[in-house]
Amino acid sequence: MSDTDSTTSTPPELPDSSALASLSSSEAPPIPEGVTPAIEVEGLYRSFLGVHAVRGISFAIAPGQVVGFVGANGAGKTTTMRIISTLDYATAGRVQVCGIDVVQYPNKVRSKLGWMPDDYGTYHNMTVLEYLDFFARALGYRGEERRERIEEVMAFTDLDKLADRLINKLSKGMGQRLCLGRALIHDPEVLILDEPAAGLDPKARVELKHLIRILAEEGKTVFISSHILSELGEMCDSLLFINQGQIIHHGSADSLKRSSETHTFVNVSANCDPQRIANWATMAPNVTLIETTKEGARIEIDSAEPEVIATVLKRMINDDVPVTDFHQEERKLEDAFIDILSEIEASGEAIVS
Ligand code: ATP
Repeated sequence: MSDTDSTTSTPPELPDSSALASLSSSEAPPIPEGVTPAIEVEGLYRSFLGVHAVRGISFAIAPGQVVGFVGANGAGKTTTMRIISTLDYATAGRVQVCGIDVVQYPNKVRSKLGWMPDDYGTYHNMTVLEYLDFFARALGYRGEERRERIEEVMAFTDLDKLADRLINKLSKGMGQRLCLGRALIHDPEVLILDEPAAGLDPKARVELKHLIRILAEEGKTVFISSHILSELGEMCDSLLFINQGQIIHHGSADSLKRSSETHTFVNVSANCDPQRIANWATMAPNVTLIETTKEGARIEIDSAEPEVIATVLKRMINDDVPVTDFHQEERKLEDAFIDILSEIEASGEAIVS
């Protein structure tokens, strides 16, 4: 726990928050008028003896949204999530969950919120059932209601067949499902999941993704951190990027793929020798040949404007290249993230450590 008991104290000596705001690019989904955000973070700072883990971040998440929290190791994700989950105090700033202040009313917040840490603790000598029963008792469930809650959670996470298995005999994927089950016992409105997919094999990741989508369909708000950007893009309504304790982007995966885009990669297939496309690409304006492929070629167009892309295709047809497919590559989220970071560095705004 921290050295402060308030989330509204004066921020420490850090860059002023308006300067920090100018570092971010954002198309954050708006919160509809009159709707209380599921999570609202305003000017949040957290320092640990001179380490500025979180530096003046603000964001709001509408109820029912699945939002990905993305950043490198040490970017400040866990620190932010722990403060939202009432497990740590901010150095300054204010956090509300479903309109309830996390410092003033932590117990009320806990009743609305399920927290899944990146490690499910040291309960290895318990069975799955004992573990869930322990937490259900701690949450105040008694008798039939407790049995029902545990049964529901075990059915949802597909752990009912493993009720008597010791936790230290679970695979990583089963363990993550158990941890999710624990977070769901009290049927919370908001779920905070810290790196739930870390270390999972592809099958377990697909299963977890499926469970998260079901929870979203039930109307729960899910705030989920991960390093695996492509997966978050598929699963989340929006993505929140954090870098060195500052938010650098909040928007949909699509807006991120569009943002700062200056060129387009296209895979061309044609009913001819790929060399013919290669020859054409080396002569055509706005086009660079990247490589020839089995079916044709991969080319780069020096614009992301639809008119320019359409003109390239038209020219190719006019020049008698027998095009059978002209497929624009989707920009990878990782590339977009790196572009945003490069823009920030190029803008000359120092990121203070
Ligand atoms: P990861 O992806 O590696 O889990 P993260 O984005 O979750 O990283 P945090 O765990 O929030 O990052 O850490 C942010 C910074 O704060 C790091 O520099 C970390 O070393 C520091 N930090 C976090 N907790 C503490 C603590 N209790 N005491 C001192 N420093 C801390």
